[in-house]
Amino acid sequence: MSQSVRLPLPFHDAAPKALANGQLRRNLGHVTSAIRAKRAAVTSEMPDWEALRAAGKTIKDHTLRNLGTYLEQLEANVTAAGGTVHWARDASEANTIVRQLVGATGAREVVKVKSMTTDEIHLNDALAEDGIVAIETDLAELIVQLASEPPSHILVPAIHKNRVEIRSLFLSAFNLEPDELRDDPAELAAAARRFLRERFLDAKVAISGANFAVADTGTLCVVESEGNGRMCTALPDTLITVMGIEKVIPTWHDLEVFLQLLPRSSTAERMNPYTSFWTGVRDGDGPSTFHLVLLDAGRSAILAEDVGRATLRCIRCSACLNVCPVYERVGGHAYGSVYPGPIGAILTPQLRGANQDRELPYASTLCGACYDVCPVAIDIPSILVDMRRRTVNAQRKASPLPATSAVDAALRTASAIFATRGRYEAAQRLARMGQAPFVQGGVLKRLPGPLSGWSDARDLRPIPRQSFRDWWRRRGHNDREEP
Ligand code: SF4
Repeated sequence: MSQSVRLPLPFHDAAPKALANGQLRRNLGHVTSAIRAKRAAVTSEMPDWEALRAAGKTIKDHTLRNLGTYLEQLEANVTAAGGTVHWARDASEANTIVRQLVGATGAREVVKVKSMTTDEIHLNDALAEDGIVAIETDLAELIVQLASEPPSHILVPAIHKNRVEIRSLFLSAFNLEPDELRDDPAELAAAARRFLRERFLDAKVAISGANFAVADTGTLCVVESEGNGRMCTALPDTLITVMGIEKVIPTWHDLEVFLQLLPRSSTAERMNPYTSFWTGVRDGDGPSTFHLVLLDAGRSAILAEDVGRATLRCIRCSACLNVCPVYERVGGHAYGSVYPGPIGAILTPQLRGANQDRELPYASTLCGACYDVCPVAIDIPSILVDMRRRTVNAQRKASPLPATSAVDAALRTASAIFATRGRYEAAQRLARMGQAPFVQGGVLKRLPGPLSGWSDARDLRPIPRQSFRDWWRRRGHNDREEP
């Protein structure tokens, strides 16, 4: 089974390629619009939805302000329940810890619960260096693993694949003849189930992430739809959980809020079909060895940011992806990270450091739809604007000369024009005269030079002969008077 994925292109190269893929856009449009509608239906039936959002935000903010205290409490309670806690400063440390733990068991194969955090640190590749095969057991994760691709959606990693493509992957991965498998969803799921059942029964080690960790009991929680995660957390002898430090919550009581917010925002269900909890180890029940790896990998640095800190409230529901007009058109791979869409645009650059992925915060229209749906009320547009501000300031510091790029020059010109009404109206008159050669059949076609970006893929209406202000003045009104 292939373990590694292809290296991503930068967003400005990847996005046009994705836009040119009609099949991808159809798949994305179909799935995101279906989930959007279902989510809107199940959240609108909750009269206290906004109160729940506020509670989720408050609990997360409180936890982040006292993160050290709750992490130490979690460590003490996991240890008291028979588990072992490891601290990893970065991806490399986390991978080394997991490699040593798996190596000590002698296992050559591990089964995995769907986990963005282990994707973030490229754990499968690290295990492959030791000859250890990691089998993804979430159906969609298995599909992207067989295709040697990264996930393209937090919740639906294979959103970009249709059933014909999945059948072809399964035929070759499971050594099936063409007449043994049709592209029927039930048959495809059954083929994956047969393959995975053998892996579950043979596995000595399982690796998971965690949706939540409860500090006051030392309990880990994973929610999922297929039950494959439950097989991983219950059957093998050894369970290793890799968790970002921001996933801790103070009390069991707090789960009540998040277990209402998460399923309705992610799969648009009233509750998750499978919610698994485990607290340390217990004789004769589940794994006999449990390790918890607490991962920092840039999270402490985000915690120190005034505006960006709110990013750590994220519960990875993916609601923001499904409403984002940019994500819906380019899909997840264009973001070059396991975290795509609006959350990826703010999380990835912060996790990777100030000089990385500077263009991702620009992959947004700032329409605000992501903020409206976020179950923990992360004001993503404000964080995007703050990150853009920091990028511009860093560029100015590096090169204090004015107009350092064509975009910079264009924005300075626009700023000067919009600064006074006289300039704005003069610019309008000039544009009205200058557009004449480009008007065909009542629309603007093929604008020259850099303006062609506006006309290549859409028909623009020409600037009308009479502006609203002209029309208002002609009716004898003072144009400073309110219409
Ligand atoms: S930012 Fe909000 S909406 Fe987006 S994945 Fe995180 S919790 Fe969900």
